[in-house]
Amino acid sequence: MSPTGDPSAAPTWLLPDLDDEISAPFWAGAARGELLVQTCAACGRRRMPPRPMCPVCRSLESDWVASSGRGAVWSFAVPHPPLLATYAEFAPYNVVVVALEEDPSIRFVGNLVAAPDGPINEIDPATIEIGERVEVVFAGVEDVMLPRWRRA
Ligand SMILES: [Zn+2]
Repeated sequence: MSPTGDPSAAPTWLLPDLDDEISAPFWAGAARGELLVQTCAACGRRRMPPRPMCPVCRSLESDWVASSGRGAVWSFAVPHPPLLATYAEFAPYNVVVVALEEDPSIRFVGNLVAAPDGPINEIDPATIEIGERVEVVFAGVEDVMLPRWRRA
Protein backbone atom coordinates (compact mmCIF):
# COMPACT_ATOMS: atom_id res chain seq x y z
CA MET A 1 0.00 0.00 0.00
CA SER A 2 1.21 3.47 -0.76
CA PRO A 3 -0.51 6.74 0.00
CA THR A 4 -1.40 7.27 -3.63
CA GLY A 5 -1.96 3.65 -4.56
CA ASP A 6 1.07 3.92 -6.82
CA PRO A 7 3.70 1.39 -5.65
CA SER A 8 6.46 3.49 -7.20
CA ALA A 9 5.52 6.57 -5.14
CA ALA A 10 8.21 7.96 -2.84
CA PRO A 11 8.02 6.73 0.78
CA THR A 12 6.09 9.20 2.81
CA TRP A 13 4.55 7.23 5.68
CA LEU A 14 6.02 7.48 9.16
CA LEU A 15 7.35 3.95 9.64
CA PRO A 16 9.40 2.24 12.35
CA ASP A 17 13.11 1.49 12.14
CA LEU A 18 13.12 -2.29 11.64
CA ASP A 19 16.74 -2.47 12.78
CA ASP A 20 16.10 -0.81 16.15
CA GLU A 21 17.72 -3.13 18.69
CA ILE A 22 14.87 -2.95 21.20
CA SER A 23 11.85 -3.26 18.93
CA ALA A 24 13.20 -5.37 16.03
CA PRO A 25 11.71 -8.62 17.45
CA PHE A 26 8.26 -7.01 17.51
CA TRP A 27 8.48 -6.11 13.82
CA ALA A 28 9.92 -9.50 12.91
CA GLY A 29 6.90 -11.08 14.61
CA ALA A 30 4.53 -8.79 12.73
CA ALA A 31 6.17 -9.87 9.48
CA ARG A 32 5.18 -13.45 10.41
CA GLY A 33 1.64 -12.40 11.31
CA GLU A 34 2.24 -12.56 15.07
CA LEU A 35 1.46 -9.83 17.54
CA LEU A 36 4.29 -10.25 20.06
CA VAL A 37 4.48 -8.71 23.49
CA GLN A 38 7.76 -8.18 25.28
CA THR A 39 7.62 -10.10 28.53
CA CYS A 40 10.04 -9.95 31.45
CA ALA A 41 12.00 -13.20 31.71
CA ALA A 42 12.39 -12.73 35.47
CA CYS A 43 8.93 -11.69 36.73
CA GLY A 44 6.71 -12.36 33.73
CA ARG A 45 5.32 -8.84 33.47
CA ARG A 46 4.35 -7.79 29.94
CA ARG A 47 5.35 -4.37 28.69
CA MET A 48 4.54 -2.17 25.73
CA PRO A 49 6.16 -0.21 24.14
CA PRO A 50 9.33 -2.31 24.15
CA ARG A 51 12.18 -1.17 26.35
CA PRO A 52 15.38 -2.68 27.71
CA MET A 53 14.49 -2.86 31.41
CA CYS A 54 11.51 -4.27 33.27
CA PRO A 55 9.80 -1.38 35.10
CA VAL A 56 8.77 -3.77 37.90
CA CYS A 57 11.87 -5.82 38.74
CA ARG A 58 14.56 -4.06 36.67
CA SER A 59 15.59 -7.24 34.88
CA LEU A 60 17.27 -6.73 31.53
CA GLU A 61 16.19 -10.18 30.34
CA SER A 62 13.04 -10.48 28.27
CA ASP A 63 11.20 -12.80 25.92
CA TRP A 64 8.83 -12.09 23.07
CA VAL A 65 5.55 -13.93 23.55
CA ALA A 66 2.79 -14.27 20.98
CA SER A 67 -0.45 -12.67 22.10
CA SER A 68 -4.00 -13.66 21.23
CA GLY A 69 -4.24 -10.70 18.86
CA ARG A 70 -7.62 -9.94 20.39
CA GLY A 71 -8.56 -6.84 22.29
CA ALA A 72 -11.01 -4.04 22.83
CA VAL A 73 -11.04 -0.40 21.82
CA TRP A 74 -9.77 1.45 24.89
CA SER A 75 -9.87 4.89 23.27
CA PHE A 76 -9.66 6.54 19.88
CA ALA A 77 -8.99 9.85 18.20
CA VAL A 78 -9.99 11.41 14.91
CA PRO A 79 -7.10 13.43 13.43
CA HIS A 80 -8.01 16.47 11.36
CA PRO A 81 -5.73 18.81 9.36
CA PRO A 82 -3.22 20.27 9.66
CA LEU A 83 -1.48 16.90 9.23
CA LEU A 84 1.49 15.61 7.31
CA ALA A 85 0.59 15.62 3.62
CA THR A 86 0.47 11.84 3.37
CA TYR A 87 -2.08 11.62 6.16
CA ALA A 88 -4.05 14.77 5.35
CA GLU A 89 -5.60 13.26 2.25
CA PHE A 90 -7.18 10.54 4.41
CA ALA A 91 -8.56 12.83 7.12
CA PRO A 92 -10.73 12.44 8.97
CA TYR A 93 -9.56 8.94 9.85
CA ASN A 94 -9.44 6.97 13.07
CA VAL A 95 -6.57 6.15 15.40
CA VAL A 96 -7.54 3.55 17.97
CA VAL A 97 -5.89 2.49 21.20
CA VAL A 98 -6.54 -1.21 21.74
CA ALA A 99 -6.22 -2.95 25.11
CA LEU A 100 -5.05 -6.53 24.76
CA GLU A 101 -7.59 -9.16 25.86
CA GLU A 102 -5.25 -11.14 28.11
CA ASP A 103 -3.68 -8.05 29.68
CA PRO A 104 -5.61 -4.78 29.23
CA SER A 105 -2.60 -2.85 30.56
CA ILE A 106 -0.93 -3.65 27.23
CA ARG A 107 -2.17 -1.21 24.62
CA PHE A 108 -1.46 -0.79 20.94
CA VAL A 109 -2.04 2.26 18.78
CA GLY A 110 -3.25 1.64 15.25
CA ASN A 111 -6.11 2.12 12.85
CA LEU A 112 -9.48 0.38 12.79
CA VAL A 113 -10.03 -0.94 9.28
CA ALA A 114 -12.58 -3.17 7.56
CA ALA A 115 -10.01 -5.06 5.49
CA PRO A 116 -6.37 -5.66 6.41
CA ASP A 117 -5.09 -3.50 3.56
CA GLY A 118 -8.00 -1.07 3.50
CA PRO A 119 -7.49 2.70 3.70
CA ILE A 120 -7.26 4.19 7.18
CA ASN A 121 -10.43 6.21 6.62
CA GLU A 122 -12.72 3.35 5.60
CA ILE A 123 -14.41 3.12 9.00
CA ASP A 124 -16.65 6.04 9.92
CA PRO A 125 -15.20 7.28 13.24
CA ALA A 126 -18.75 8.06 14.43
CA THR A 127 -19.45 4.32 14.51
CA ILE A 128 -16.52 3.40 16.78
CA GLU A 129 -17.44 2.49 20.33
CA ILE A 130 -15.21 2.28 23.37
CA GLY A 131 -15.02 -1.35 24.45
CA GLU A 132 -15.89 -2.90 21.11
CA ARG A 133 -14.08 -6.13 20.35
CA VAL A 134 -11.34 -6.09 17.74
CA GLU A 135 -8.67 -8.41 16.40
CA VAL A 136 -5.31 -7.72 14.86
CA VAL A 137 -4.68 -7.91 11.14
CA PHE A 138 -1.51 -7.04 9.30
CA ALA A 139 -0.87 -5.02 6.18
CA GLY A 140 2.35 -4.35 4.33
CA VAL A 141 3.34 -0.73 4.06
CA GLU A 142 6.57 -0.45 2.14
CA ASP A 143 8.85 -2.98 3.91
CA VAL A 144 6.92 -3.04 7.20
CA MET A 145 4.03 -5.29 8.23
CA LEU A 146 1.89 -3.00 10.35
CA PRO A 147 -0.57 -4.29 12.93
CA ARG A 148 -4.02 -2.87 12.36
CA TRP A 149 -7.39 -3.73 13.88
CA ARG A 150 -10.71 -4.91 12.57
CA ARG A 151 -13.97 -5.60 14.32
CA ALA A 152 -14.09 -9.10 15.76
ZN1 LIG B 1 10.36 -8.06 35.64
